[in-house]
Amino acid sequence: MKTLVLFKNNLRINDNPVLYNGSKNNTILPVFILDEHNIKKKLGSASKYWLYNALKSLNQSLNNKMLFFRGETLSIVDELIKKYDINKVVFEETFIKDDMSLQKKMESFLKKTNIKYHSYNCTLLWEPYSVLKNDGTPYKVFTPFYKRGCLGGKEPELPLGRPKEIKYLEYDNNTNISDLNLVTGYKWYSKLDDQWDISEKKAFKIFTNFLNDGIFDYKKGRDYPSKNCNSKLSPYIRFGMISVNRLWYILNDLKFDKNIEHFKSEIGWREFSYYLLYHYPKMEYKNLQTKFDNFEWENSNEKFDSWKKGKTGFPIIDAGMRELWQTGFMHNRIRMVVASFLVKNLSIDWRLGEAWFWDCLLDADYASNIAGWQWVAGTGSDAAPYFRIFNPILQGEKFDSNGEYTLKYLPELKPIPLKLLQKPWENLEKINYPDPVIDYKLSREIALSKYSAIKTYTEK
Ligand SMILES: Cc1cc2nc3c(=O)[nH]c(=O)nc-3n(C[C@H](O)[C@H](O)[C@H](O)COP(=O)(O)OP(=O)(O)OC[C@H]3O[C@@H](n4cnc5c(N)ncnc54)[C@H](O)[C@@H]3O)c2cc1C
Repeated sequence: MKTLVLFKNNLRINDNPVLYNGSKNNTILPVFILDEHNIKKKLGSASKYWLYNALKSLNQSLNNKMLFFRGETLSIVDELIKKYDINKVVFEETFIKDDMSLQKKMESFLKKTNIKYHSYNCTLLWEPYSVLKNDGTPYKVFTPFYKRGCLGGKEPELPLGRPKEIKYLEYDNNTNISDLNLVTGYKWYSKLDDQWDISEKKAFKIFTNFLNDGIFDYKKGRDYPSKNCNSKLSPYIRFGMISVNRLWYILNDLKFDKNIEHFKSEIGWREFSYYLLYHYPKMEYKNLQTKFDNFEWENSNEKFDSWKKGKTGFPIIDAGMRELWQTGFMHNRIRMVVASFLVKNLSIDWRLGEAWFWDCLLDADYASNIAGWQWVAGTGSDAAPYFRIFNPILQGEKFDSNGEYTLKYLPELKPIPLKLLQKPWENLEKINYPDPVIDYKLSREIALSKYSAIKTYTEK
């Protein structure tokens, strides 16, 4: 059978159900289509850079047989079916609203034209519709979702390994990744080339190195940005360069340990993010808790700009924002602190922060990013209470007590004594570093008074 294998968000050879099943007893046409017609949220700049490199790597693994197109999926698929006499189309099952409506359209089109088709879940351990409470409604709180719904439910699919053999259709490949226009113009991304090795092989190597080292102190160490306790696998996971099922079963084979269980639960948070977006798609643009809809954000351009550029005058915030700019990544604890600062102290709508992350993060993930922002803003489900305001001075002193992380991104602060590193304005000697963009205590009081009617206050 001549089978069209459509890649989307799972750019790997190993444990890829679409490729594995598509190539079983078939000759295949491997295709990637960049379709921006059918989605509201276009890829951000950093994602395009990652995607470009991930496709390059996948294409190499497929003997440079991939075809690349930019345009409307249905018309391209239709053309390919006719041109290559295709009998079957296989593709990824999707869980995000716009992708799901495109998938539906494709399925009804293929049905009408009498072409066989099959979709496979390549992205999640548990399909969101398969995890429901006893009364048939979705969970809203992480712990019962994960413990009862996921761990207490069906086992995730076992990983499939690599296809035994891949036979390609005979064709002249006159397409090129550059036709996708993913990386054009000013080469801002060249700074990332030396920092990231974007390949499936590297993803697995990072994971095995992590299993030999960082994971042993993961539960505690994951909060400290200068410790090497986090896997940094997120962009590889986002683009499906390593499958979560493969990770899951390798972890399951290890001896039970609280660190391993904690790491698995973080993968569970990713599942929960997709789950929430699946069941509550309005979360994409709206507060899940509607009582926040009338909140009056200050939305000062000047303050927003200082945050984006890492010039707020609060070292842990600025270090995080510069890490993002220089590396396309940011440590999880720091994501929480900078997001809290933007929303609660600068009074800027979480959607603006989410959009900035979406553009700059290499791991920008539709579900995890929105869920992460709504969690910090306190507007989501099972979210941090609105009045949990991360104090950037205390957070910096606690989680970067030797200043290693802060000074890596703000070397201009090296002359400051460590005890004043997170409050450089108290240092008598003048240095070339911005004054604080806000009075922290005052901004916290304003936030508290604005929200006192909505929630109760806790400070960490
Ligand atoms: C405001 C905000 C925005 C975020 N935006 C994104 C995003 O766009 N893309 C993204 O992948 N993650 C996002 N996260 C979640 C988390 O910060 C990153 O997944 C994590 O920092 C990636 O680093 P790591 O691979 O070293 O994680 P590890 O600690 O090694 O965790 C392993 C994997 O588990 C998953 N994971 C871990 N923590 C979370 C979490 N809280 N939510 C969802 N998945 C998680 C990731 O796939 C990660 O690679 C966001 C968090 C916040 C607070």
